[in-house]
Amino acid sequence: MSQRMVGQFMAMVRIDSESGDEGRFMEYLLGEVAAAGGEAALDGYGNLIASFPAKGCKGAEPILLSCHGDTVKPGVGIEPVLGEDGVIRSAGETILGADDKAGIAEVLEALRVAPVRPPIELAVSRQEEVGLLGVKALDFSRLHARRGFLMDNDTLDTIVIGGPTYIAIDVTVTGRAAHAGMEPEKGINAIAAAARAIAALRLGRIDHESTANVGVINGGLIRNGVPASCTFLAECRSADHAKAVALAEEMTRTVRAEVEAAGAGVAIVVDEKCRAVRIPEDAWPVRVATRALATVGVAATPVFITGFTDASIYNNRGIEMAVVGIGAQHEHSTEECIAVADMERAAAALVEIFRLAAE
Ligand SMILES: [Zn+2]
Repeated sequence: MSQRMVGQFMAMVRIDSESGDEGRFMEYLLGEVAAAGGEAALDGYGNLIASFPAKGCKGAEPILLSCHGDTVKPGVGIEPVLGEDGVIRSAGETILGADDKAGIAEVLEALRVAPVRPPIELAVSRQEEVGLLGVKALDFSRLHARRGFLMDNDTLDTIVIGGPTYIAIDVTVTGRAAHAGMEPEKGINAIAAAARAIAALRLGRIDHESTANVGVINGGLIRNGVPASCTFLAECRSADHAKAVALAEEMTRTVRAEVEAAGAGVAIVVDEKCRAVRIPEDAWPVRVATRALATVGVAATPVFITGFTDASIYNNRGIEMAVVGIGAQHEHSTEECIAVADMERAAAALVEIFRLAAE
């Protein structure tokens, strides 16, 4: 089981699939899903949706398994290396791509070896890493399962049961250019106006379940010019949807008032990337995943995270999903790695999940 799974994982990470450029990888997956006994097709957005018939059981409810097919950057030219310590790392200055291709390799292996399984639907989304774009465009009419597992948590010993509302706020401040030495009074300093607005924002931890941040600022062209433009990117999150919405409104109101008081103009784009959702700690997917992980020696606990995954979208669309670990470490960095032993445990836990779901 291990050699075949590891070989497939290595083959997958060698196929570049940075967000937005997943086409070749999805084509490869279509073939692999068919070889594993599934029927697969791409939806209109290029997400892969597959179904596998039940095995060794009758009348069991279908379950959904989901992963994402894209990777973060730098993810071009990945060369995986299996070390003598049993850990797979990237050989060069790239990520490894275990997030989320280890999940896909584990799912495919479990599908190949499980003696018993309910009907299984598999969805592999595009562009997860850049704001869940793929799953938001997923053709949900092709899915029939009402519950399942997103294989996209790093550590095996936690099961994600929810995440916050996340709102992105893009601000463009427009002032007026002028020579900084000869006629500064003719200018309106966009950087100063933006700075004044940012200084007036409540940032950091707002309360026990809400945060706000300004993460990027850009402006100005030359030292000796009053800058006409400055942009900054802010965000806020809360486990309580209403709080996140109120916080975003407070932030936009503050920015607008401060920028205008500085005499500059402002354009603000507010984008709700994802909506808070929390499934119960004793929800079926959590109970089943906990039991299955226990059989491979992992005591998993449910956690609510401050980030978001495709599961936020599935849960808001009425498919109850827990996020289960794949064993990857240091995701989103060139230090990303995964132990073969953890891949084996994740795949074995999936086989057990299938057995429990087929009961
Ligand atoms: Zn991921």
